[in-house]
Amino acid sequence: MTKRTIFLTTALPYANGNFHIGHIMEYIQADIWVRHQRMCGNTVHFVGADDAHGAPIMISAQKLGVTPEEFIAKIQDGRKQYLDGFLIKFDNWHSTNSPENTELSQEIYKKLKKAGLIYTKDIEQFYDPVRQMFLADRFIKGTCPKCGAVDQYGDSCEKCGAVYQPTELINPYSALSGSKLELRTSEHYFFKLSDPSCVQFLREWTKGTAKDGTKRLQAQITAKTEEWLGKDGDLADWDISRDGPYFGIEIPDAPGKYFYVWLDAPIGYLATLKSYCQKEGIDFQALLESPDTEQIHFIGKDIVYFHTLFWPAMLHFAGQPFRTPEHVWAHGFVTVDGAKMSKSRGTGLNPLVYLDLNMDPEWLRYYIAFKLNSKVEDVDFNRNDFIARINSDLIGKYINIGSRCAGFLVKRFDGKVDTSAIASSALIADIKQAAPSILESYETREYSRALRKVMELADQTNEFVDQNKPWELAKKEDKQDDLFRVCSITMEAFRLLSLYLKPVLPRTASAVEELLGCGELTWETIENSLNESTVLKPFKHLMQRATEDQLVKLFELSNPNNTQTPKTEEAPVSSQEEIEFEEIAPTISFDEFTKVDLRIGRIVKCTKVEKSKKLLQLSVDLGEGRLRNIFSGIAMYYKPEDLEGKLTVVVANLAPRKMTFGVSEGMLLSASDASDKPAGLYILEPVEGAKPGMRLH
Ligand SMILES: [Zn+2]
Repeated sequence: MTKRTIFLTTALPYANGNFHIGHIMEYIQADIWVRHQRMCGNTVHFVGADDAHGAPIMISAQKLGVTPEEFIAKIQDGRKQYLDGFLIKFDNWHSTNSPENTELSQEIYKKLKKAGLIYTKDIEQFYDPVRQMFLADRFIKGTCPKCGAVDQYGDSCEKCGAVYQPTELINPYSALSGSKLELRTSEHYFFKLSDPSCVQFLREWTKGTAKDGTKRLQAQITAKTEEWLGKDGDLADWDISRDGPYFGIEIPDAPGKYFYVWLDAPIGYLATLKSYCQKEGIDFQALLESPDTEQIHFIGKDIVYFHTLFWPAMLHFAGQPFRTPEHVWAHGFVTVDGAKMSKSRGTGLNPLVYLDLNMDPEWLRYYIAFKLNSKVEDVDFNRNDFIARINSDLIGKYINIGSRCAGFLVKRFDGKVDTSAIASSALIADIKQAAPSILESYETREYSRALRKVMELADQTNEFVDQNKPWELAKKEDKQDDLFRVCSITMEAFRLLSLYLKPVLPRTASAVEELLGCGELTWETIENSLNESTVLKPFKHLMQRATEDQLVKLFELSNPNNTQTPKTEEAPVSSQEEIEFEEIAPTISFDEFTKVDLRIGRIVKCTKVEKSKKLLQLSVDLGEGRLRNIFSGIAMYYKPEDLEGKLTVVVANLAPRKMTFGVSEGMLLSASDASDKPAGLYILEPVEGAKPGMRLH
């Protein structure tokens, strides 16, 4: 098979803060794929960088009294400990604030201008006369035009959830200086995404097939882009300029104007590759230009618009040497115990705390991989599940195989193995036979499927050991040949399982290579086996068990200001014996019941409704690819922040209901007794495992 050349990136983290667990999850996902490709013998250039420009970084630096360059340098210095800590091996880590990025951004801009896709237009914008600058939406505050809540941000209201233009705010003021704002006119530069040639290109590109024969985008993402492109393809043009002072790259022919950070951020992928090529003596231009190079991006689901519309359009119309990506692969977010992470609820998960507690990075790599598939789904970190996966799967099933048999071979057989027993073993044949499906699962990012298969094989191996009982054979002088045979087969099985787990557990795999003296494990070595020249080294401990205490500390230290003890529920307002029982309703037929479509929904957002004591406004995901707006009379019983992230049950086919505050598109189910003013009202929450969109039967 011809070997592939892959240029692979993860999304660039914004350089105004340290990595969070979401970054680490993405890097682990990409790192496993990279290691798999390298085990195939393919060449991968795996690069990452800090996204270092924009107003928020400029303002954070000002607050600390340092230059933006000093500010981002400090953040960049902090990256290594996380990457090394979680065994994530980028070939190069760079910054968008670099000469390479300035050069490439200006080059791409000039080419787009030449292609007739850049134009200018005057727009009205708020100006802070004290700071002498135009303000981004997040630095503008004022009174919500819809509900009258004060101190709301320039783009949306946290109280009522309304979305608006900053110019619609009542009494707008600067969040930076507190001063009254002036409306001023400024000339902005636009990328003409609405151009028919652009829309036509994107329609084809988003549905296209990559060189590897698979779809360029995941089905869910293509559905999303189709929604954006719509029937008429009326995409809004993209405002790519910002007025100075701005920390960014100057637009070549426009003094005082800078590229909006989102223009130069993805170009940072190319700049980072270029800086890598310079270090390694690789011809950047030739690598980029080559039709054999596959450019692939791993990203989070929140930045799909930028990566599947703006980015390919920019690259396509800039022309040679730039090429559009082969794939843009999106993943979901990390949740903790089924809900969005929240420091106030004590469910923040700080990756640095994890490392500081000396928790094994391979535990997290394994756990995350065990939960990852190729779809755009959230990955839930569940504390009990984490301990179970590590201790019963990883240690109990896999590591134990090695420790149960290696000692006998080392002590009694000089570390040698019975090669003919291995060659004729049905167990070994079974394990080798699984290789194509496991490799395919890694290739298609179905890591969960790959690991489940490996654990099945580990079960099979443990059964073999249990049936043959080497510890009993060891006691009988006339059974030494059997002992030699059983232990040899088991250690060859252990070699194969270690090989299959190597993309996820690189450190353990390398320790196993050392113990078995088998050389570097790659996919090609599946067909090899332990042989005449094998001399096993004494087995050392490969991995510790995870303890509940570590998990408790992890969450305690990740949420230093949280005084709540997680998991303790408030005492119920009324006890079960005292409920005012409501008579059971008249019997209905099964057909009548099935008319009601009940679905699992995830409460994505929940806010109080201003001027209503009873109502909460919820945005609920029923798996339809959009969010439902639902009003529910539960404000007396629940705090909005306690509901966000929870799964619940919704009547999905109830006719929409117009209410004073808007249209309610569904009904939340809740339980209460028959009294007029029930003391307790309880929404429903499914047992773990249910997913938004599942129907109740
Ligand atoms: Zn409002």
